[in-house]
Amino acid sequence: MSTAYPHYQRPCCWPDPAFDGAVKPALTGHQHFDAIIIGAGYTGLAIARRLAERQPNYRIAVLEAEQVGSGSPGRNSGFALETALSAPSAAQAQQLHTLYQRAHTQLITAAGLSDTSTQPVFKAAATSRGERYIKQLERFMVASGQPAEWLDAAALAQITGSTYYRSGLLLPGNRLLNPVRTIRAVAQTLPANVTLYENSAALELEQHASRWVVRTASAMAEAPRLFLANNAFIKGLGYGASRSVTIYTYAGLTPILSDAERAQINQRGEWGLLPAHRLGTTFRSTQDGRLLVRGMYGYEQEGGDEVEQILLRSLHSRYPELEGAQQLAHWWGGTTSLTANGAPLWGELRPGLFASVGCNGVGLVKGWMLGGALADLATGAATIPVHELFGRPSWMPPEPFRQLGFLAVSTLEKQLAGGEI
Ligand SMILES: Cc1cc2nc3c(=O)[nH]c(=O)nc-3n(C[C@H](O)[C@H](O)[C@H](O)COP(=O)(O)OP(=O)(O)OC[C@H]3O[C@@H](n4cnc5c(N)ncnc54)[C@H](O)[C@@H]3O)c2cc1C
Repeated sequence: MSTAYPHYQRPCCWPDPAFDGAVKPALTGHQHFDAIIIGAGYTGLAIARRLAERQPNYRIAVLEAEQVGSGSPGRNSGFALETALSAPSAAQAQQLHTLYQRAHTQLITAAGLSDTSTQPVFKAAATSRGERYIKQLERFMVASGQPAEWLDAAALAQITGSTYYRSGLLLPGNRLLNPVRTIRAVAQTLPANVTLYENSAALELEQHASRWVVRTASAMAEAPRLFLANNAFIKGLGYGASRSVTIYTYAGLTPILSDAERAQINQRGEWGLLPAHRLGTTFRSTQDGRLLVRGMYGYEQEGGDEVEQILLRSLHSRYPELEGAQQLAHWWGGTTSLTANGAPLWGELRPGLFASVGCNGVGLVKGWMLGGALADLATGAATIPVHELFGRPSWMPPEPFRQLGFLAVSTLEKQLAGGEI
């Protein structure tokens, strides 16, 4: 099986009532473009839009391995985050926050969504270690001038209907999206000089003089500019192997809660909870009245049926009232690309070959921002100082040392995360 593009075991099941089932034709023949983008996620579509805006005469192709939204762009939990939760300094966090706010507005405008977000999105802690992190985060928010509001256990219980959490921090400005709906809406409003090809996985790249050639199973395309926006699958096309790993994480949706269940756990409205530890479990409610639970990480390989039980354990520890439910309505795995120090692999890798991958699990807004910035770089326009803000991805040792390192760190971190999982 090719590792150049995703092969997920289960479909992703965010509902999209607006989807009419129409699929864009795959790439055929041997075609010439001014720019080719591989991957129609947040990064790839942001590159396409910005490039088309800056170069209206370019013929731009976006090659997507699957159908837009069936891969990770639609498999995530839908938190569009504009808060800079970490940065080397308060000043850099402030700068990042402003840039994320701008990218967030551009993304939701491209998706045709209203620009007001009213759902509470917050970090919450269930352990004393987690509480210490929340207090530290509050100081960081104040120092970097980002909005935040303390939530005590009673306030958290009122929002979530769970008494599991001790304290939290409300992070205004962040938003909950239906990711499938969002990415499809963005794909439907691409500029006229951008053509999207679905079911067109790039399998091989070659450089011929000053042109880049991309081969799919039955066609080829070439252009002087090639953009890699395929995130966790960049290694399968021969780049980024010493800087990034593919991490699987999982999300599950409960059935739509009945009125009785909702009353029992005092559940109303949409809210989103981010854990106080990076290996912790994310929760949110959805517009159609379900709970979403996201947790677990797997190294380079998708997990099997045990995942559902682990997600259910986290759900039941927060909502013992739902213990009768022994199955999720849907659950699925998705990928993200992780670098050791959190810096994205971003920039011109070879003449005419550009890449932006490695959003480390928060790529909705960050991917959009970095994609737009990459198109700026490629067209010689002023761009945001990506390397100054994030650094460059550090080198990772080869296998088997890399996997051993990952397992050692994740075992330790799981212990530290404790009840946040
Ligand atoms: C379960 C889960 C929950 C998450 N929750 C959140 C969240 O709430 N908020 C958040 O910000 N982030 C979240 N993430 C991470 C987020 O999904 C990613 O950071 C984001 O999708 C990155 O966007 P991207 O466009 O860079 O890459 P991707 O979304 O991975 O898009 C890459 C695209 O490239 C395509 N592709 C891959 N290989 C090829 C190829 N060879 N040829 C053509 N196309 C190819 C893929 O099919 C895909 O459509 C979550 C991830 C998962 C798995």
